[in-house]
Amino acid sequence: MENHSIHADLHSHSVFSDGVLTPEALAERAQQNKVNLWALTDHDTLEGIDFAKKAAQTRNIDFVAGVEISTLFENVSVHVVGLNVDHHNAVLKEGIAAVRNTRFARAQKMSTAFEKIGIMNALEGAMEFCQNKNTISRAHFARFLVKIGKAKTKAEVFENYMIPGKPGYVPHQWASVDDAISWIHTAGGVAVLAHPGRYDFSKNAFARLLDFFKDNQGDALEVCSSAHNKDEIIHWSRVAQQYDFYASLGSDFHDLIEHHCDLGHAPQLPENLKPVWQLW
Ligand code: AMP
Ligand code: MN
Ligand code: MN
Ligand code: MN
Repeated sequence: MENHSIHADLHSHSVFSDGVLTPEALAERAQQNKVNLWALTDHDTLEGIDFAKKAAQTRNIDFVAGVEISTLFENVSVHVVGLNVDHHNAVLKEGIAAVRNTRFARAQKMSTAFEKIGIMNALEGAMEFCQNKNTISRAHFARFLVKIGKAKTKAEVFENYMIPGKPGYVPHQWASVDDAISWIHTAGGVAVLAHPGRYDFSKNAFARLLDFFKDNQGDALEVCSSAHNKDEIIHWSRVAQQYDFYASLGSDFHDLIEHHCDLGHAPQLPENLKPVWQLW
């Protein structure tokens, strides 16, 4: 495909993690929004891939198997997206299963933390929005807190309850960035540092993360994301060039009600960057 004919969205979530649409409904939406290169990248699971792949095929959309791995760098949660992975690869599957299987215990601790501030049965409430207990995330708790009127939006729940220093926040041990990259590479995929603009790092810590990602063979930076404004896209484009990273893009679509950026609506990549799909 010629670059200009590619309309890509390489970051999206389904009900198999914390999105609200099925892979089939996402494929339908991708088609409606004229996406012709699409990746499903659920958090720490590949369970939706076969469904998404099949649905994309019937709609003539080029599909890329992906996963968004939860990692920790200097005690900050950092997401590493794997694209074009072999979703049957045992190393990758075992790696993400180990990460995923700590989610429920963390959710129990979060629920206890919410009880201490008088919010009862948060785990049960969150589970009503979640299809598999092992993929439970803060997003499911956020939906529950909105439902019971503790906040108007999910973003407000995060701000008031679920970020470091707030009462519902529980520190957690995720994978290491280098393990995530290595699992992705073992599965034949490319490793992308997701939405860099979202991380709360000092300038120096950011440089350490980027150096570490480069030194451990990280491949690409998610330059265009719904999390980035125009200036941030310019900034992360420069960083990608400086570090000689490939560039990726994605809406990080979860749900239209809670999300300002529809599937396929993230800005497409600036011309001067190397698109990540050149790697496959
Ligand atoms: P977890 O993996 O359980 O730590 O949850 C992280 C997920 O929560 C992300 O993938 C987003 O879907 C969601 N999230 C994180 N921060 C925010 C925010 N400020 N507003 C809305 N959703 C958020
Ligand atoms: Mn999410
Ligand atoms: Mn993320
Ligand atoms: Mn995501």
